[in-house]
Amino acid sequence: MTLNGTRAVTVGILALQGDFREHREMLERMGHRAVEVRKPSQLEALDALVIPGGESTTIARLILSNGFQGPLRAFCATGRPVWGTCAGAILLAKEVDRLDRPGIEVMEISVHRNAFGRQVESFEADVEVRGLEGGPFRAVFIRAPRIDAVRPPAEVVATLADGTIVAARQGNMLATSFHPELTGDSRLHAYFLGLAEAPAGIRH
Ligand code: GLN
Repeated sequence: MTLNGTRAVTVGILALQGDFREHREMLERMGHRAVEVRKPSQLEALDALVIPGGESTTIARLILSNGFQGPLRAFCATGRPVWGTCAGAILLAKEVDRLDRPGIEVMEISVHRNAFGRQVESFEADVEVRGLEGGPFRAVFIRAPRIDAVRPPAEVVATLADGTIVAARQGNMLATSFHPELTGDSRLHAYFLGLAEAPAGIRH
């Protein structure tokens, strides 16, 4: 059993580059088993997968050189929850500006890298996340991407006050341009792990 009363599951965090440790620590605090994933063969044993923030061009390069692209696409198609935070969201998008090689390309979203400009490369903001109880989520943005377009079957999950899209979902897949693993708030991690339990009607 976990802190929030759900069954403990095994969650992988793609650990090629970026802030995988922070996700692992958050998931462990919640009472889940967290595994740093460095080889495609580790994917099979997982109930869910996080693709962390970091440098998307570097992670994309390592995905290709470690033979992860096909296995990650296959994992996304199994219906198990997959969550990309920041660079991870860039890698899940089918359309990205200025990414010099393919990522995983499974979500019907268009993403603009480093979209918030120099002065505000890092900032915090309260975001309203649809379906998340307990009030706004304090979100940390670090050289964050902006989600410019969300096409069906993907749907918008969170926006900033000015309407900028910062989270989207497509069935079992979630993309956030911010870093919930850097706050003490585990609600989005719990929300993500619940994506596999969604009614069949809203799975895609
Ligand atoms: N700017 C980074 C990129 O484009 C993402 C930043 C992050 O993951 N915090 O890869």
